[in-house]
Amino acid sequence: MKRIGIFGGAFDPPHVAHAALAKAALAELQLDELRVLPTGQAWHKTRALSPAPHRLAMAQLAFAELPQVVVDPREIERTGPSYTVDTLREFKALWPAAELFLIVGEDQAHALPSWHDWQEILELAIICVATRAYTTGARAKFDLETAHPSRFRRLPMPALNVSATDIRARIGAHLSVADLVFEPVARYIAHHHLYQTA
Ligand code: ATP
Repeated sequence: MKRIGIFGGAFDPPHVAHAALAKAALAELQLDELRVLPTGQAWHKTRALSPAPHRLAMAQLAFAELPQVVVDPREIERTGPSYTVDTLREFKALWPAAELFLIVGEDQAHALPSWHDWQEILELAIICVATRAYTTGARAKFDLETAHPSRFRRLPMPALNVSATDIRARIGAHLSVADLVFEPVARYIAHHHLYQTA
């Protein structure tokens, strides 16, 4: 049975923690393929995202070294808000026999009950939550996980105190982001003058 991971995000910009999460998912879940999906219209983010073609191009650069990753533009190309359930339905239709694994950071996992049709999301995919195991030790369970234990898995990964918000702020303040994004992404950001006014 084909094992497909699904990893969505704004990727504004994609950073080293995103790549670490992707690597952890590939190894831990023995995925045949990991689909990385930059979001189109992010219904849950208040900030306007950078134009989709930039986020798509940066995602292609950031994940280029992972051969099992396919950067998938379907959420960007879809009109209307980007709902994860729509993407999962499309994948289920494309590969009815595949096992789908939805990869999320812990913050996103806690917000899951606010996602559109979350009950169907739980039916369509196993939710794989990146845990910052090496620092926190004990895992903090959340309500949905307690109620549906068979639909959740934990992905241990080293704690990486990196966020796109911090990266945008650092670029706006002319601080280095060399350890936070890969070199090709840093070059792309500089070339296109992204985040200068963050
Ligand atoms: P922003 O700071 O703009 O909100 P972000 O850094 O959280 O962005 P997203 O593109 O929103 O990045 O995240 C995509 C996915 O990656 C989410 O599931 C998020 O939880 C996860 N993620 C992002 N940063 C980390 C991190 N440092 N450790 C673990 N997971 C992360």
